[in-house]
Amino acid sequence: MTAASSLSSRSAITCQPVRNLYVHVPFCGRKCDYCAFYSEPASRELMARYVRALTREMDTIVPGVHPYPNTLFFGGGTPSLLPISLWGQLIDHARKLGLAPAHEWTVECNPATLSLDKARFLREQGVNRISLGVQSLDDRILDRLGRIHSRQAVFDSFDLLRQAGFDNINLDLMFGIPGQTLEIWNQTLADALTLESEHLACYELIFEEDTPLYLQLAAGSVRPDEDLDAAMYELLIERARERGFIQYEIANFARHRGSVPSMVPDLACRHNVNYWRGGSFFGLGPSASAFVHGLRSRNVANTELYCARLEQNLLPLDSQDPLSTLARAGEIAAFGLRMNCGWSFAEFQTVTNLDLRSHWLNDMNDLVEQGLGQLDNLGFRLTPRGLRFADAAAQLFLRS
Ligand code: SF4
Repeated sequence: MTAASSLSSRSAITCQPVRNLYVHVPFCGRKCDYCAFYSEPASRELMARYVRALTREMDTIVPGVHPYPNTLFFGGGTPSLLPISLWGQLIDHARKLGLAPAHEWTVECNPATLSLDKARFLREQGVNRISLGVQSLDDRILDRLGRIHSRQAVFDSFDLLRQAGFDNINLDLMFGIPGQTLEIWNQTLADALTLESEHLACYELIFEEDTPLYLQLAAGSVRPDEDLDAAMYELLIERARERGFIQYEIANFARHRGSVPSMVPDLACRHNVNYWRGGSFFGLGPSASAFVHGLRSRNVANTELYCARLEQNLLPLDSQDPLSTLARAGEIAAFGLRMNCGWSFAEFQTVTNLDLRSHWLNDMNDLVEQGLGQLDNLGFRLTPRGLRFADAAAQLFLRS
């Protein structure tokens, strides 16, 4: 299928109903200095045009989606920049099509863009999980990152969300930021943990090409410090555990309320767990990726072009790659190893129809020898040290 396929042709690619949807909202108040996600400045006119186009794209996936999906995730960009009136149009349409509400319905929010009215509106519509882009609670570090919000805005917006009735809130934090000392990180963690959120996602800064921070790295004006980054990661794991969080993925921690212990806590982000377990998902909006029954696709990363395509009754696809069974299984193996539980051989076989031991035994043994992996009769997982190097370990599992 090419980018010029007509809207009606998308249903042909589905066979089993998909239960997980991602929607990319491509607008930001300003571009952060480290960010390589596709986003652009918001204008009222472009946001309205985007919402009209998005509702058309929603129509195209209906035959392939299970009504009232398991997860619906609005990410970005900054979804909380959309005004209430446009959220209303979007949600009304999604509801009419059976795409909303979802069991877990997440909206990413920037602390500088929330009001009590907007938070209440989203909660009343059925949104039941918020992911708040905090990144740091140090104003100098927020400036360094080019964020538009302040430390105080984080506390204020968290209060608003609780007032609006949200009882499942994720805080996104970052470490390994130039100028961030271990003391500053320790203080950010301590302050963030006092908020008692249900979930934490803590990422090490990546110097992505074509970002202002990457240019500073290339010019030698900032220098990464791997020992400091490792100390920050260890501190994170220790502090999160002390405050009752269960780590279930390299960067993700959640609370568990059930009485039966589990390596995947019940407040884990179900949407992301589906990615890491090799599940299918549709992706809507400019630059959004999808993975539906072994077919990976990506929409055009250009909002004007995205809208124009849909206005002409064309799919906004940029690429589609059918993956071989082995390549797909390799990707699924690599993603799943990001999780603390790794892979049981039985589950991997169910998801991929392949035995992890038949194609990757040597790779798993190599990781065990280096102290990075743990292999037994039931499955394979990375050790705590292996998780720190999960990206490198994952490369071993990829196949063309
Ligand atoms: S708010 Fe998020 S998506 Fe937007 S520029 Fe900053 S990091 Fe990127």
